[in-house]
Amino acid sequence: MKCPFCAGPSHVVDTREVSEAIRRRRECDGCRQRFTTYERVSAANLQVVKGDGRREDFSRDKLVHGLRLACAKRPISTDAVEGIAADIEGQLYRLGRSEVPSEVIGELVMDRLQSLDDVAYVRFASVYRRFTDLGVLADEIERLREMKERERAQRDQMALDL
Ligand SMILES: [Zn+2]
Repeated sequence: MKCPFCAGPSHVVDTREVSEAIRRRRECDGCRQRFTTYERVSAANLQVVKGDGRREDFSRDKLVHGLRLACAKRPISTDAVEGIAADIEGQLYRLGRSEVPSEVIGELVMDRLQSLDDVAYVRFASVYRRFTDLGVLADEIERLREMKERERAQRDQMALDL
């Protein structure tokens, strides 16, 4: 990397991972000025492998769109939706792979929605897992309800322990 001040060669003095990027502090071998660079994995470099084996470029817009549909008319702010999309995008890049199966993205989204909003979660899961009959969907809702009840019981237990 050329020094932006004198165009001489530089070396890395510190490397740190920040959200979605690698931050490097560099020092010029000539003029000794320090500067910072950020390396990002370009979105175009991340391919999503669909269930049928087809590949397409990862699209953050598509992810946001899917989240918005799931969160429609729920008490979830646009900022929260954008934040989840940014987090998931960051997680995907940190995997450091050029290809990611679509299921991995689906699971990451479901993890987030599950703790955020039951309705949004079930909506997303019903589309994503393509529940073909309502029985499967009902099972999923029941499983979710039981899990929440267990969590509540655990919280109550913890409150008693205090
Ligand atoms: Zn320099």
